[in-house]
Amino acid sequence: MAEEVDYESEDEKTTTTTTKKTGGGSAMHSANFKDFVLRPELLNAITECGFETPSQVQQECIPVAMHGSDIICQARSGMGKTAVFVLATLHLMDLEKENQCQVLVLCHARELAYQISKEYKRFSKYMRPDICEVFIGGIPLKQNIETLAARVPPVIVGTPGRVLDLATQKKLDLSKVSMFVIDECDRVLGGETRNGVETFDMRSEVQKVFAMLPLEKQVMMYSATLPPSIRSTLKKFCRDANPKEVFVDDTQTLKLTGLLQYMREVEEKEKSAILSDIIDNYEFNQVVIFVSNFKRCQVLSNLMNEAGFPSNFIHGKMKQEERIKRFDAFKSGEFRILLATDLLGRGIDIENVNLVINYDFPSSDDQYLHRVARAGRFDTKGLAISFISTPEDKEILAKVQSRFDVSIPVLPAEVIDYNLYKN
Ligand code: ADP
Repeated sequence: MAEEVDYESEDEKTTTTTTKKTGGGSAMHSANFKDFVLRPELLNAITECGFETPSQVQQECIPVAMHGSDIICQARSGMGKTAVFVLATLHLMDLEKENQCQVLVLCHARELAYQISKEYKRFSKYMRPDICEVFIGGIPLKQNIETLAARVPPVIVGTPGRVLDLATQKKLDLSKVSMFVIDECDRVLGGETRNGVETFDMRSEVQKVFAMLPLEKQVMMYSATLPPSIRSTLKKFCRDANPKEVFVDDTQTLKLTGLLQYMREVEEKEKSAILSDIIDNYEFNQVVIFVSNFKRCQVLSNLMNEAGFPSNFIHGKMKQEERIKRFDAFKSGEFRILLATDLLGRGIDIENVNLVINYDFPSSDDQYLHRVARAGRFDTKGLAISFISTPEDKEILAKVQSRFDVSIPVLPAEVIDYNLYKN
């Protein structure tokens, strides 16, 4: 059972829940989606999606979110955080209201925005059509303006820059938003290091968007990682003085259950040969191979194709339409090997990925978590293999091991038994 700690202060009910037990996605109590008393149309869609038991984070958060309370939630990737806010906002939405945005969801990446919108679409199947639109950079602004002129959907999912552009140009009215969600909130509101300088571009865009929202609204923020340093920033966006804070598997004690992890020390020049060897000998459904930049992504994908392994690649310098096309093609299983930069590292859910290879080791322990969680989602199994080739890689590896309390052994010479990481 989960060990829950509810802190009660003297004069007010505080709402922090820390679930210490390193549970997986499976339920810790015997709750059922029916127990939430969601709209019947939603319950039908949930059943159709094959969701039987709510995960731990869903059990903790859905009732609170349905109540209209603010939420700050951290739970590891793949535990079903998206469904928490999608179901709660669809439940609370006023279907009588036409032509106004009631729910605004911001996230950092375009692919993630599409993924979230797909969740809205499948759960709203029995509610009404066209519940959600995506507004992201890289798509012509004019196209978004035309969409909004024809009809404002009740749910808008977007990246902060594009939403701000549309709102500033008065093409998007945010004054009726009653639910505001930030997914991957530490990435959206935290700093980003570019050329050695920490910048807060996205945070300032969100602040400007936030200033256009009504004061009275529900605020929900989610991420797999919530470093303590960001938590006070998050609270500044909340309406409630004491938002419900849910930390399922706090990252300090996080265990990547279901995921086998190995490392191999390699020299840069050996990497591609060793990679081919692994792809040749290991069984997998689909694999994501992470590299450090777009050039390596492209070059390595060509190498893989030449070696007879059909692959494709995706990185941030590609045209938006192309990125989405390739991402969808991979998701639907058109090819099995995807080369990617960290663009794909966060929040993206691809059901059939059960092997992740860090061809270039990530530059932070957080990034390691986001990448390897591509395999082993929602309590499924997976295998992560990391190449270690520089002193910096070793340093980050040491951080990963201590932070997640895991020892990542050397990849054995014999191939790992597929049954150990087969979904
Ligand atoms: P997170 O946002 O926590 O990283 P996602 O919302 O992407 O996780 O969910 C991961 C996967 O698990 C998705 O494919 C989702 O459809 C599936 N999922 C979520 N909740 C459930 C559930 N209760 N039962 C079965 N599958 C679920």
